[in-house]
Amino acid sequence: MSQHRQLVSLDDIRPAAARIAGHVLNTPTMQSAALGELAGVPVHLKLEQHQITGSFKLRGATNAILSLTSAERARGVVAASTGNHGRALAHAARAQGAVATICMSRLVPGNKVSEIHKLGAEVRIAGNSQDEAQEEVDRLVADKGMVSVPPFDDAAVIAGQGTLGLEIVDQVPEVETVLVPLSGGGLAAGVACAIKALRPNTRIIGLTMERGAAMKASRDAGHPVQIEELPSLADSLGGGIGLGNALTFAMCRDLLDDVILLSEEEIAAGLRHAYAAEREIVEGAGAVGVAALLSGRVTSTGPIVAILSGRNIDMDLHRRIINGASALPVEVAA
Ligand SMILES: *Cc1c(COP(=O)(O)O)cnc(C)c1O
Repeated sequence: MSQHRQLVSLDDIRPAAARIAGHVLNTPTMQSAALGELAGVPVHLKLEQHQITGSFKLRGATNAILSLTSAERARGVVAASTGNHGRALAHAARAQGAVATICMSRLVPGNKVSEIHKLGAEVRIAGNSQDEAQEEVDRLVADKGMVSVPPFDDAAVIAGQGTLGLEIVDQVPEVETVLVPLSGGGLAAGVACAIKALRPNTRIIGLTMERGAAMKASRDAGHPVQIEELPSLADSLGGGIGLGNALTFAMCRDLLDDVILLSEEEIAAGLRHAYAAEREIVEGAGAVGVAALLSGRVTSTGPIVAILSGRNIDMDLHRRIINGASALPVEVAA
């Protein structure tokens, strides 16, 4: 897959939507009265946390696997993952009768590890960072001939995530601002690519946490940079973008109108609002859109769509945050 170096376009995203139809859900949007009142314009939540496997990652993983030749599929797929990509790839592989091997760092929460086991994938714990887990992937590709399906920097994965953008334009045609959780940038690149092609004046804003925002630091530097990985309530947003980033850095640099950083407390407030006011369980990464709206830092003269990207959070941690525990990193790591 990684030999596809050209940037992704709408001509890749439309076929991806046809390919994955029937394998993934077209998730609904829900208008939020409370957030609309705050923002002064209609706010729609794209409920992608209800996607099969609990996050949008199933879109990219499914498109990537369905794009392989049967010979490639037979060698098995492998990925490094902070959890949701691994889970999605495990599910997508099993659905197509392929074997997935998932490599992840020691920072990944135990609930995500065991869930991937249950999906039938082989799990390998390697290193203390996403980058070290990736080195294990490279070894398995070199030594065993497995096929790498990266979590974000891959044309088929980006095109799969972009199908979410097609659905947003379909569901909220008058959308003016889209709030997208941002880590490696596969989601933001795909969604921005689809929406800018169909609605060039729509603003796409990336949202991420203050603690370890690799794409933001890279955008500011003008090239991919490495930053220290720190525990965060938004653990799915952790990890680097890769110093050799081929696709998502350039796409996020060119297609995102802004990137907003959120504190741990703001993310916790977003998670609490999603639960108490919207009756939705989301993980930290899935709460950043709500968090940004609550913080008052998003302004728009027209309808806003916020993507709730996932719900795979340890339920004890979720309960503690709902009950008012502060989202200090020591709390998150416990
Ligand atoms: C992976 C993930 C993100 C970030 O997606 P990128 O493509 O890496 O930017 C956001 N939210 C959730 C729930 C995720 O699993």
